[in-house]
Amino acid sequence: MGFAILNGEIIERSNAMVDVEDRGYQFGDGVYEVIRVYNGKMFTVEEHLNRFERSSKNIGITLPFAKEQVKEQLENLIKKNNLQLGIIYMQVTRGTAPRNHTFPSGDVKPTVVAYTKELSRPTENMQTGVKTILVEDIRWLRCDIKSLNLLGNILAKQQAAEAGCFESIQHRGEDVTEGSSSNIFIVKNGVIHTHPSNNLILKGITKDVILDLCSKNGIAVEERVFTKEDLNNADEVFLSSTTAEVMPIVKIDGRKVKNGSPETVTRRLQALFTEEIENQCGKL
Ligand SMILES: *Cc1c(COP(=O)(O)O)cnc(C)c1O
Repeated sequence: MGFAILNGEIIERSNAMVDVEDRGYQFGDGVYEVIRVYNGKMFTVEEHLNRFERSSKNIGITLPFAKEQVKEQLENLIKKNNLQLGIIYMQVTRGTAPRNHTFPSGDVKPTVVAYTKELSRPTENMQTGVKTILVEDIRWLRCDIKSLNLLGNILAKQQAAEAGCFESIQHRGEDVTEGSSSNIFIVKNGVIHTHPSNNLILKGITKDVILDLCSKNGIAVEERVFTKEDLNNADEVFLSSTTAEVMPIVKIDGRKVKNGSPETVTRRLQALFTEEIENQCGKL
């Protein structure tokens, strides 16, 4: 789409270039966010900007712009690109410097980039549910940072794609962690279980919205580790992410979840989630 932001300035996207020695390119030395846009408005923007700041801070990058400035830049970008329904992709890297593993000196400025993409809601998959496979979680031990280093994640997602599936559900030994780019939930006897937000998973904004909706609507949640066996015995399974929203999982490794159709708690959460979008961004 038309325009991008490079270090605070809106320019033609085709002119938005970074150096071959940008540390994002060479080391994956940076962090990112994907923000949903509905009706030209950003959904849960404060939460995303807070996480962006937190991820940056966790790897010792100081953002060159205040949160309010970034928000204003993104709003301008949405207008400039006339984006109604889609996403903003935004990343910051430690900047451009002669290749060396150690951090460059303090006068090297981080590179901040953002652009937009049109993207509809995945209505069909949300209706029918998606297929998944189980894969061993081979990632590092700071999965709480939304890092540009996504090798473990993309290898897992590629395996899913090659199996004709939407997502991989990762596990460390017996314990289920999260999807390659989503959080995983199971429902058993009306209670939702999901991995606690520690260093082994990315604390999804969508996950937090869901937990909030549960607490406001009297749906029981236990944020505790569950196993592959719990997954196999679950009444319902679903995943969440900025782009997938609340997505029912109907198959795992070719085996049907319960009766193989999305069930009541998942459907209820989908409706509550849509309401929340409309509260923030207007009628869909
Ligand atoms: C981004 C991401 C998620 C989902 O987070 P949202 O904020 O809900 O989009 C989950 N897991 C991983 C590994 C991610 O990178």
